[in-house]
Amino acid sequence: MGEGALVLFSGGQDSSTCLAWALARYGRVETVGFDYGQRHRAELDCREGVREGIVAIGGWRGALGPDHRVDIAGGMSAIGETALTGAMEITMTSSGLPNTFVPGRNLLFFTYAAAIAYRRGLRRLIGGMCETDYSGYPDCRDDTLKAMQLALNLGMERRFVVETPLMWIDKAGTWQLAHELGGERLVSLIVEGTLSCYRGDRTHRHEWGYGCGTCPACELRARGWERWRAGRADG
Ligand code: ZN
Repeated sequence: MGEGALVLFSGGQDSSTCLAWALARYGRVETVGFDYGQRHRAELDCREGVREGIVAIGGWRGALGPDHRVDIAGGMSAIGETALTGAMEITMTSSGLPNTFVPGRNLLFFTYAAAIAYRRGLRRLIGGMCETDYSGYPDCRDDTLKAMQLALNLGMERRFVVETPLMWIDKAGTWQLAHELGGERLVSLIVEGTLSCYRGDRTHRHEWGYGCGTCPACELRARGWERWRAGRADG
């Protein structure tokens, strides 16, 4: 198996930064996106434009391979309602997590991704999970993903490497990483072309991009942007 990589690519800020990160490192990179009936499905439609934009900025056209899109919407809706897939208000639950939490979502994504990577002969699985500046979802944590790597390697008899370049940086650091990888052009592409908003709001434009401005994903993105901009002004 080669050193190629498969990036879990939703079309949001984090996974777009991870795609640039992977293209800067590996000579063969493919992407996978999941349609799980998310309300912010609009971000899936951003994906091709963002892929094209990133390779143009970085000169990585030769490294970018096919995009895989997996439809698991039927299965996810059968599991049950969350505010990410159903039409309910986004609130905090008694467990301390927003009700946008879809239990085990990343475990499911990595299982599908590994099966595609197995078939495509790709060794690295790259995801934008982060436990530094996040909503507290347990399937985003480093220990969870290390255990996932072990389970995938045992269950598929492979030597996959799960890589999470954003795990220990905050959202300001994610903007900074995009800047290091592709300068202002990549930052502008991410602002303009990616959507993180849980409500899929593409009508309100802020300095940090489109979104409702009030859901947990918009709040994280906006706070990170403000901290990053403030840090640059100080430096
Ligand atoms: Zn939002």
